[in-house]
Amino acid sequence: MNPVVFCDFDGTITREETFVELLRTFTPEMSEKLIPRMYDLTLSLKDGVRRLLESVESRHYPEMLARMKSAPLREGFLEFLDDLKTRTIPLIVVTGGVEDFVRATLGASIRDVHSVYGLKVNTEGPFLRVFSEWESGTELVSKPRILEVAGKKMCANPPVLIGDSVTDLEAALACPVVFARDRLARYLTDRKKAYVPFEDFTEIRKAFTEMFPVDV
Ligand SMILES: [Mg+2]
Repeated sequence: MNPVVFCDFDGTITREETFVELLRTFTPEMSEKLIPRMYDLTLSLKDGVRRLLESVESRHYPEMLARMKSAPLREGFLEFLDDLKTRTIPLIVVTGGVEDFVRATLGASIRDVHSVYGLKVNTEGPFLRVFSEWESGTELVSKPRILEVAGKKMCANPPVLIGDSVTDLEAALACPVVFARDRLARYLTDRKKAYVPFEDFTEIRKAFTEMFPVDV
């Protein structure tokens, strides 16, 4: 049976942590204050991300989208997306950042993405306002909740997770197949959860085809 692929965005589909860079550019003072506290866990991701985004003036939003348009993609991503399309395997983007940023970066290729789950932003007031349908106790976007809801719609297709960071961890522990790099790989090693290490999507394509051979 064909799997369904859940893929993180920042630092996974993109080569860099684009979201953090954007915050540092458009809300530098708050970023300097809050980002270190999020890293040392004295401020939750949920409060931190909301306070940071809501300190950005709405008039900067078009410029943020313009920057995201030129964010470099990790090697082999578009080819992987193309493979999945040929095989009618859905790819779902799950981001702890803003859905519009994913759409801006992927441009026309977004038509080959099944769906995007993340934060929604309202720009009508002087400052951005953030909305999430996926809040949990500690996170603004709970990836395990998204997997549960989106996964149910996909019936029994086994979920595959691709990610790089702490926000992917809980979801990764619930998935039978995980591709991991950077911090996520280290966390999974510590927890003795099996995963396939990767640095680019060329490696993922190769391993993916071996794991899920094309039906003949
Ligand atoms: Mg990431």
